[in-house]
Amino acid sequence: MTKEPIRAYQRQEETWYHLPAEIRVTEAHLHRVRVAGVSLPHPGLVNWIVRRGLPLQTRLELTALHEFGHLQTLPVPLLHVVILAWPRRGHSPYPLWSRLLVGLFSHQVAWEVAAESYVAARDARAYRAARPPRDKALYVLFWSGMAFFSLLSTWFILKREE
Ligand SMILES: [Zn+2]
Repeated sequence: MTKEPIRAYQRQEETWYHLPAEIRVTEAHLHRVRVAGVSLPHPGLVNWIVRRGLPLQTRLELTALHEFGHLQTLPVPLLHVVILAWPRRGHSPYPLWSRLLVGLFSHQVAWEVAAESYVAARDARAYRAARPPRDKALYVLFWSGMAFFSLLSTWFILKREE
């Protein structure tokens, strides 16, 4: 018995700040992002959840676009880190370890939301493509939840008491 070849999609594009990127995604192993010759491993969990119910080709294309979106929106997580780490008056009511842990998640989630916003702005199939209503609802719920968590966790870290 012969095995079906694994289907893949690849895109090469330059970011707005002139960084050459080569992104390859396959149905078996969702991501391989290569930037200026360096591979950046990335977990495929987010794309696995939000591309449910889409045809394979659309799934691969939107996944690759999402990965490129991470590079295009790089200033967003950088600015977010600066805001989180900026010294403020007063002291936090929460222990340092919890702020570091929440900050790590908050940073990643903010970047995911930025990358997917880029996808949605550039390719309407991200939310318009036909798919089972349950999968479409999952898409909306997932991103609403992520955006909410990002705001809530940012507030958690910034909160100060005199
Ligand atoms: Zn992502």
